Amino acid sequence: MAPTSSTNRGRRRVVLLPLPYQGHINPMLRLAVALHSRGLAVTILHPETRAPDRRKLPADYRLVTIPDSIPPELAASEDIASFVFALNKNCAAPFRDYLAGALREEEDGHVAFVVADVDWFAPLSVARELGVAALALMTSSAARFLVYLAYPSLCHKGYLPVQESNFNTTVEELPPFLVRDLDRVMDMARHLAYADLLAHIVAGVRQSSGLIINTSEDMEGMEIERIRSEIARPVFAVGPLHMMTPSLSVHSSLLTEDRSCLDWLDTQRPNSVLYVSFGSLVGIDTDEFLEMAWGLADSQRPFVWVVRPGLVHGCELSALPEELQEKIGSRGRVVSWAPQQEVLKHPSVVAFLTHCGWNSATESISEGVPMICRPLSSDQMGTSRYVCDVWKVGVRVEVENQLKRGGVQAAITRLMEGKEGEEVRERMKDLRHAMSKCTDEDGTSDVALQRLVDFSV
Ligand code: UDP
Repeated sequence: MAPTSSTNRGRRRVVLLPLPYQGHINPMLRLAVALHSRGLAVTILHPETRAPDRRKLPADYRLVTIPDSIPPELAASEDIASFVFALNKNCAAPFRDYLAGALREEEDGHVAFVVADVDWFAPLSVARELGVAALALMTSSAARFLVYLAYPSLCHKGYLPVQESNFNTTVEELPPFLVRDLDRVMDMARHLAYADLLAHIVAGVRQSSGLIINTSEDMEGMEIERIRSEIARPVFAVGPLHMMTPSLSVHSSLLTEDRSCLDWLDTQRPNSVLYVSFGSLVGIDTDEFLEMAWGLADSQRPFVWVVRPGLVHGCELSALPEELQEKIGSRGRVVSWAPQQEVLKHPSVVAFLTHCGWNSATESISEGVPMICRPLSSDQMGTSRYVCDVWKVGVRVEVENQLKRGGVQAAITRLMEGKEGEEVRERMKDLRHAMSKCTDEDGTSDVALQRLVDFSV
């Protein structure tokens, strides 16, 4: 039950607007928990599309639905740029009505500031026009935001749209990236639409009251400094946000978790199981799916694999061929969605074969689980570069044109056997330790979070 207005009157309130994709909802709700635990009241404004489950959120959070008028076909499509533009366009007026009302009444407490996902940029200017501080949340890395900032000049200099012939060219302006680490939007119309979206995102941040990033000084100190100097706005590196909240305190899964894999993990030997997941968005083709499955089978190691509906293009529910199922036997467990943080925490899990989504990478580091990287799109190639070549806490699956089972097996062997794997595991321990120092009391992320709690303009 929501508290009475008198409980909230006079309390500082933060209004949060998560973009309705799993990899964006999770960090925003973790930020909500972190701010709430430091005394702020929380309102979450969400579009009708993919609304969070009220029952899974703390009772005293206010949830407000914003009409988005987005056709279900667009919401279900892979055209994220068009969805994001529509969301910004359609929700600006309802957001203005909501905020104007909240400022008039103040029954729910004083709106201290608004935090909107960088992709949901329209509310930032609406809030500012109404005299409310508005901060943007970058749910991915600082390095990724530097790509956003550099995008026009990368286009101008011919790095973008990327061409395969340039894949191994160094991007001088953005070390340590090679061209292959940038967005692979090869189609010109899509490239232009994406460049336009990023221009809006960057403009939104430049006009905001500040930028919050789901990263820490220890992981990306230089990148954060560079953003500070380029946008001349306060920057708050308050992450990784899942480490800033009481353990597993937010349940924001859009899909139903299959928790039976935890029981199965209990039956496995310590440090033996590979966890395999490609996050909530990317799709792979049937060939890649089968090669991945054969690679896992040939590795002879136990695994838990998240095959969510829609992972394999054109198949709602993907089953492994019988021959493969026989070979794997009871060694592999396929689930449609896992309680990922709990899986990564489990003592049986030894490595994470991941698409390198930013949340997945940081969740893996916080549990000290080394990674086997198979990035597929957007920020994943860049994150894989940091994991494999900067922090050196993972190895990549080598792929020439098409993923092959031998490449999967070779990467697993590199990480699990021999000196290289040992060194990776040692470095992972160090990085994990450094990250927990940042997020512990008086660590840099903790201090940045307190600065945010006290924020006013
Ligand atoms: N996740 C989960 N269960 C799964 C797979 C993923 O709970 O079976 C969560 C994961 O913990 C992470 C988020 O979904 O917080 C995925 O975000 P990420 O940035 O890694 O990838 P994206 O989905 O944005 O590509």
